[in-house]
Amino acid sequence: MVRADLDLYQRFDGYDDLKPLLDGSDEDVLVTLGKPTLVRIPGTDPRPRARLVSALLHGNEDSGYRAVLDVLRAGGHYPFDLWVFIGNVRAASHDGWFAHRYLDGQEDFNRTWALNAPTTRMRRCADAVLDVLSETDLDAAVDIHNNTGVNPYYAIVPDPTDEALALAAVVADTVLRWPLRAHTLMEALSPVCPAVSIECGLPGLPVNHAYAAEALRRFLALAAVHETGPGPQQMFEMQHRVVVRPEVRFAFGGALADELDLVLNVGLDAHNFGMLLAGTTLGRVHPGAAMPLLATDMRGRDTSGRFFDVRRDGALVVTEDVTPVMWTTTVQQTRRDCLCYFARRRL
Ligand SMILES: [Zn+2]
Repeated sequence: MVRADLDLYQRFDGYDDLKPLLDGSDEDVLVTLGKPTLVRIPGTDPRPRARLVSALLHGNEDSGYRAVLDVLRAGGHYPFDLWVFIGNVRAASHDGWFAHRYLDGQEDFNRTWALNAPTTRMRRCADAVLDVLSETDLDAAVDIHNNTGVNPYYAIVPDPTDEALALAAVVADTVLRWPLRAHTLMEALSPVCPAVSIECGLPGLPVNHAYAAEALRRFLALAAVHETGPGPQQMFEMQHRVVVRPEVRFAFGGALADELDLVLNVGLDAHNFGMLLAGTTLGRVHPGAAMPLLATDMRGRDTSGRFFDVRRDGALVVTEDVTPVMWTTTVQQTRRDCLCYFARRRL
């Protein structure tokens, strides 16, 4: 590692220097860490392979971070080298706790991996961490997230190899195949080893911290990543991404006042991984206004006309039965990521 890297993140080998930093609440630990943190816990096998657990790439998603701290505080060793990466610590501890996916002036830390020629501090950090991981014998990786709307627990598989699908089925009953090409950490590692994201529902809930901890326990207890289980109970494939057009001023719920162009109905996130039937009203625009949403397929082609229509009275409706996933509930999340995705059930 070149010295410049140490400015971008900090690294711990073993528990000796790390343990004293883990005292206090999970929030206290954020302040103590202060920056992205990479930890290696040496394995017990004579020539151990390695597994990676990543959390907090999004600063508002606490469930995985808390589960990772549980593991580190327990102080265990595994047959494999356990690598832990704790991502956007600054966003997680700014303006209170777990209030920001990323800060103004920052990039989304799960969109900065393997971009090469890194132009920003965060991309340099991502490259430096990938350099370290590339020198390990990485056997599997998981990255733990939360959603901003109501969703079941599920795993995202960027590259649906048999091994990656088997790993996903170990940590979740619902699996989403998603060739996202968004420079996520799990995409960057997919050519190296099975790599999946674990989505643990809404942040800030003890029940979802418990789910993250259970998924992590299963991941760490897995004797061999390549052993195949029964497979996921249900599998979906990501097909379209839906955004609110950038010039459109919008809100979730409330009246369609003059200063708004679109009001979206509340509660539609209850349909995530279920069905929105053709004809369902999604929201309302002023009569005469054009389509406020933009849908694109995974190759970036505009598919809005296939899914949406604005009726004469301003009702915004879906025109085909669709399975929404990650339908969000906040304007900020819609702007920082998207409104939702549409998926197709595979089994
Ligand atoms: Zn996330």
